[in-house]
Amino acid sequence: MSHPGATASDRHKVVIIGSGFGGLNAAKALKRTDVDIKLIARTTHHLFQPLLYQVATGIISEGEIAPPTRLILRKQRNAQVLLGDVTHVDLERKMVDSVLLGHTYRTPYDTLILAAGAGQSYFGNDHFAEWAPGMKTIDDALELRARILGAFEQAERSSDPERRRKLLTFVVVGAGPTGVEMAGQIQELADQTLKGSFRHIDPTEAHVILLDAAPAVLPPMGPKLGRKAQDRLEKMGVEIQLNAMVTDVDRNGITVKDQDGTSRRIESACKVWSAGVAASPLGKDLAAQSETEVDRAGRVKVNPDLSIPGHPNVFVVGDMASVEGVPGMAQGAIQGAKYVAKIVHNEVKAREHGNMPKPREPFKYFDKGSMATVSKYNAVAQVGKLEFGGFLAWLAWLGLHLIYLVGFKTKIATLLSWAVTFLGRQRGQLTITEQQAYARTRIEELEEIAASVQQEEKAAS
Ligand SMILES: Cc1cc2nc3c(=O)[nH]c(=O)nc-3n(C[C@H](O)[C@H](O)[C@H](O)COP(=O)(O)OP(=O)(O)OC[C@H]3O[C@@H](n4cnc5c(N)ncnc54)[C@H](O)[C@@H]3O)c2cc1C
Repeated sequence: MSHPGATASDRHKVVIIGSGFGGLNAAKALKRTDVDIKLIARTTHHLFQPLLYQVATGIISEGEIAPPTRLILRKQRNAQVLLGDVTHVDLERKMVDSVLLGHTYRTPYDTLILAAGAGQSYFGNDHFAEWAPGMKTIDDALELRARILGAFEQAERSSDPERRRKLLTFVVVGAGPTGVEMAGQIQELADQTLKGSFRHIDPTEAHVILLDAAPAVLPPMGPKLGRKAQDRLEKMGVEIQLNAMVTDVDRNGITVKDQDGTSRRIESACKVWSAGVAASPLGKDLAAQSETEVDRAGRVKVNPDLSIPGHPNVFVVGDMASVEGVPGMAQGAIQGAKYVAKIVHNEVKAREHGNMPKPREPFKYFDKGSMATVSKYNAVAQVGKLEFGGFLAWLAWLGLHLIYLVGFKTKIATLLSWAVTFLGRQRGQLTITEQQAYARTRIEELEEIAASVQQEEKAAS
């Protein structure tokens, strides 16, 4: 254990976990506060998750949605960015443990802001991940891109019609916004971008299936918008299967149980999982040491000021937190982070002047609405009581995403990539590598080998 870069500073120490919407916005909002910030995250970038599906389907590059956090905060002198996987928070000693390449570092804090987000949930079937990657990280998106395009390549070389059918069947599990966007984009990739580029197969014969255990598409956006999205997808050729519960996933396909209890099989080489979320396990770590509770998805049930019971200096924001009326969306994380930063700022200032901090006002979420793209020029949007779809919603989606992308250069690069795809049929990011396609299975093989070597060594000693 060590204290890297420790400074002999008496300033209030703020440790932020995560460089997503919550973590980054908390750090930025503390720019003018007299504190030392250490932002610890397991990736070097800030990820704009809402556009991951465009990386997976070759519209934009990963760099456009994942600028380095250190460069974003370069001019913020009170902030230090540290790479590390946080494994434990010691509430009693006020220390955070993070691991980088097998080395554990301990970082002390006066105030802790946890914004470690959520991962994919396979509802207790984590082995599904090997054959149905989720959509949470750049690795996921690049792996999916390689698997989608790789399936077309293999189909071109196959003379067996059944195998070709399996290779050209794409199943997206989960009909929420990400599932809808992925299904629409795989269909457009096949029908528009890849059309005419193979000699043995016709990519437009690709069969895209979007399925969900729920009875509707886009349930959080209500029946009207869900219906609109479903109609549009079906018009494009996507097959929608509802009330269909996935019971197994393997290399060659999935097993589905329908509402009437019957089981059936869909042969498919390429599956995408966008069905559920599980909050960072750090929530359970907090719960094990305090009165804090977590909900079924592992989200921390926070106080009205987003702190945890018994620890007014420990806050949880974004997808990791469970707050009534606050959805697991970027705005929830951004607004929560800014609110917490304001509390920290006011209380540090009050103490500087020898005053007692004022009682904290509860966090209030301002709902700015939600939207999802279905296809080129088509989206659905909900703003307050207003629900609309089609081209207008798509334009609103385009403008809003451009505003929220971090950095001027990123915005210009993304705008150019969109022009290539939306004004024409091309996509500028269709490069795939063998390492991307097989990374997950190879890493798992390596882990299995390492585990068996360890077992052998244990048995021998
Ligand atoms: C595919 C997809 C599409 C989406 N589309 C939309 C959309 O259109 N609109 C919308 O509003 N929202 C959308 N969301 C949701 C939105 O992205 C999240 O609500 C938001 O990112 C939550 O912010 P956060 O800061 O809580 O978590 P995140 O943004 O997930 O950030 C978590 C951070 O914590 C880090 N981290 C995690 N665990 C550790 C650890 N143990 N140690 C160190 N660091 C750690 C991660 O590396 C990351 O930097 C989408 C999400 C996904 C996955």
